[in-house]
Amino acid sequence: MKLLLIQAWNGKEASLRGKFSNLISYSSLTLAVICSLIPRDMFEKIDVVDEYSQRLDYDRDRYDLVMISSDTSSVLSAYKHSHAFRKRGAYTVIGGYHATALPDEVAKHCDTVISGPAERALPAFLKDFAAGCPKPFYREANVCAADMTIPDRSLITQRHKLRVPAVVANRGCINHCRYCSMAMMWRNDPRSINNVIDEIRSLHTKFLIFYDPNFFSDRAYAIRLMKALRPLRILWVCNATADLGNDHELMSLAYKSGCRGVLIGFESLSSSSLKSVAKRFSNAEMYREIISNIHSHGMAVNGCFVLGFDSDTEEELRALPERIEKLGLDLCRFSVLTPYPGTPIYADYERQGRMTSHRWNLYDQHHVVFRPKNISAGRLHRLYRQVWKESYSWRRIFRRVLRSPVLFGPAGLFLLGANIGFRYLGIDEKCR
Ligand code: SF4
Repeated sequence: MKLLLIQAWNGKEASLRGKFSNLISYSSLTLAVICSLIPRDMFEKIDVVDEYSQRLDYDRDRYDLVMISSDTSSVLSAYKHSHAFRKRGAYTVIGGYHATALPDEVAKHCDTVISGPAERALPAFLKDFAAGCPKPFYREANVCAADMTIPDRSLITQRHKLRVPAVVANRGCINHCRYCSMAMMWRNDPRSINNVIDEIRSLHTKFLIFYDPNFFSDRAYAIRLMKALRPLRILWVCNATADLGNDHELMSLAYKSGCRGVLIGFESLSSSSLKSVAKRFSNAEMYREIISNIHSHGMAVNGCFVLGFDSDTEEELRALPERIEKLGLDLCRFSVLTPYPGTPIYADYERQGRMTSHRWNLYDQHHVVFRPKNISAGRLHRLYRQVWKESYSWRRIFRRVLRSPVLFGPAGLFLLGANIGFRYLGIDEKCR
């Protein structure tokens, strides 16, 4: 039997890619995790296509089984591929976030839907498939850290991506932000520290990205992990929440164990917006101090902001680049509020009749798919593009990079590269 694994990609998003996108594109772990769950003796051939960097050819071979991973923004591509391969006689499977949120919709486009984490559901499906009796739906929600395998990266391409490996220690988060789709898939259940360290050692790397949605979510675990990281003498970056900047013990340990940068979802400079999406652990009035505290511990801060909350006004959004500059961030990124199916905010907006589009390829955080409160959708979209453009003028890039605490270390090069990568994203020209 022959198997094809596909990581689907949204063609609209692909058009945003700029000439330096490989400086800000990181490897996906999804395909590597799926590969680790497949018994190698089951298939005579396994091909893997990551559509981000590889062309998918429907007639490259005749596959018995085609499994496609996708999120909401890429699910229309997944449907197209599934129909094309079914016509060619393959059995098709779709999994991922969208399949978890809307399995009945996805089932119309493939033979089997896998919802939730793959660790148990995928082996169960493969066993049934081999026995000739696959079911239309698989969902195994009670996946715990002990089920997690070491991702098998041997078949995964790194083309057009930053060649820094990624690891996940804890896929869950203790918070419940109303727009976040993480909780749909994962719960707070960290892997064994030895297991994580063994995986990192096997990568033979000096730089690492932790993909954990919130590295410090489980404080006691994060402390134990950072103590175990110290002897490896690697440099790493991770995602965090703003409250890290008030915890000097954590910041000090983070730096000593090699952390040189954190990505923080500040989301808004308005406390009422943060409150409206249950982000109470963030305090917008404290952002400047928080960033300065993290800097004083030798780490850079990449701040993420969302445009389109109910309390956002045109004046506030226009002032955003200036206000963000004053915060002293090292890097910043922006997205349009995107209520994803399966999240509480999507349920609210649907109930209120505010979702204006269900064209899933527009759910890419660059397009407006709902009716904002204080501003028109078109104006929000234009302001979004303007905020990117103004924040990535050369003047602002150099100011950010030159005052960064990591400028003269190895992480300084990554920081400069990321700033340039964001400057050349095609948001201004193509995101229409
Ligand atoms: S803190 Fe981050 S990962 Fe956790 S629920 Fe909020 S948005 Fe999601």
